[in-house]
Amino acid sequence: MAATQTLTGVLGVFAHPDDETIMAGGTLAMLHTCGVPTHIACATRGEGGERGEPPVAPDQTALGPVREAELRCAAEALGVTSLTLLGYVDPVVGPNAELGPFAADFDELTARIADLIAGCRANVVLAHGPDGEYGHPAHRLIYQAVLAAVRERAPAVVFYSVAASVPGVEDHLWNASRTAHLALDISPWAEAKIAAMLCHRSQHALFKRRRGLTRVEEALRRLESFHREWPPAGDSLPDDDFAALLRAAGAVAPPLFAHHQKEETR
Ligand SMILES: [Zn+2]
Repeated sequence: MAATQTLTGVLGVFAHPDDETIMAGGTLAMLHTCGVPTHIACATRGEGGERGEPPVAPDQTALGPVREAELRCAAEALGVTSLTLLGYVDPVVGPNAELGPFAADFDELTARIADLIAGCRANVVLAHGPDGEYGHPAHRLIYQAVLAAVRERAPAVVFYSVAASVPGVEDHLWNASRTAHLALDISPWAEAKIAAMLCHRSQHALFKRRRGLTRVEEALRRLESFHREWPPAGDSLPDDDFAALLRAAGAVAPPLFAHHQKEETR
């Protein structure tokens, strides 16, 4: 595929290291292959998360720098042009696995995201969905801040949320309130996504445990799905440059996708 002049840059905004890989790694690798500059902004260093089995850091306070290095490794594997850490601190997961948002002045977070969009000349932003995927408060906070940033400060920018529900496909990651406008089978870019997954060593035990797997590679999600949040697309199929590039890469819309699935299982 030829480089796309119309996409000046795609910025992915995520809460924790590994979110970029799990939810959009194949798409970021595809965009890089097509010559589109890609950028990642990560709000925290995931310092409140798991330390891994065996632990990759001697104690919780040492986890941040390790996960930052894991994220840099993943960004390189995905061919990302720039990586920005916003420097918020991820709270430690509570005793009953309670997840929390990082502390942030909402207006300041919004302004920083708007500055990043302008700084990297992105005309497309990818970020968490309104349900925080499986309900993560930090993911929901990023969604709200990105939506406010594009609406108030960069209305010409297109914003797609990740992990939108794909009818007929079960995944605990899907945002229940969002149906995918586009779902991409990232198989052609799986090698880069797996390489990025392997970078996130501290999370390998978690990747495997969630789905009872024995190997990290088995946790690969081959479907990455998107819902256009801004400008709102409603029930019609989006027809912007990002949608066009995704379709050229093989992405399909849900009704067609459901039909395609049925045919495959016949
Ligand atoms: Zn996360």
